[in-house]
Amino acid sequence: EQWNTESHLTLDNVTIAYNDNDEPTLTIEHLALQGYQKVGIIGRSGSGKSTLLNLLGGFLAPTNNEKQKIMLNKQPVEHLQLQAWQKQFQYIPQTPYIFHATLAENVAFYAPDASEEAIILALEAAGLATFWQNLPNGLATLIGEGGQAVSGGQAQRIALARAFLTPERRVLLFDEPTAHLDIETEMNIKKAIIPLFENHLVLFATHRLHWVKQMDYVLVIEDGKIVEQGTPDEL
Ligand code: ATP
Ligand code: MG
Repeated sequence: EQWNTESHLTLDNVTIAYNDNDEPTLTIEHLALQGYQKVGIIGRSGSGKSTLLNLLGGFLAPTNNEKQKIMLNKQPVEHLQLQAWQKQFQYIPQTPYIFHATLAENVAFYAPDASEEAIILALEAAGLATFWQNLPNGLATLIGEGGQAVSGGQAQRIALARAFLTPERRVLLFDEPTAHLDIETEMNIKKAIIPLFENHLVLFATHRLHWVKQMDYVLVIEDGKIVEQGTPDEL
């Protein structure tokens, strides 16, 4: 079933440890996400933001324990076809992977049928118009290892452009997508992102507090625990 306004994901008593014998890196007593919420995740470096996004995306398995409950639309997730469900996720990692392929192929990685026009629009929305126009072979330029080098900020924007081409993936997990960008580029991207993902559940981990005002809900993480949650006004 497609993620829609009625969809919800709830987590109770969930813990994650990277090594079996370690203290949990992340402990979630209760978290409920619904519909097309825009959820900001804030917290210091090392607090567990990326760990939470990986968990919610189904990329990292929680520790086994009897009290744990993860429900999607009132069904335990282990009863679901996780693979099909995961196709609705677009995860934009903190350090996105750039494939050794052309710029166009990199942008259209999850949308191989995208037209050139759509690819160009996605690049523009991600603030990469000048970048691609200045490449020796434009969209056909090889990037990634052995090809044209891209900076950390350009790689993040290529990953954003990928997300713009897959609007059918309704759950977006953004991990610090603007961390390497200057403020002007960031503001332009902010204008592009917000209307595009109106009909999506968006989780957005960031150090940059100005994003918080655009969010419906905010989770504050400290030392692997959600220490506060609520609307931006409540916090
Ligand atoms: P940042 O703001 O720097 O991105 P973060 O809030 O995303 O930080 P996480 O990456 O979730 O933090 O890390 C939380 C804790 O888990 C840290 O102590 C980190 O060292 C540890 N950690 C993260 N990834 C791994 C891993 N693959 N193996 C072992 N420990 C890890
Ligand atoms: Mg992180």
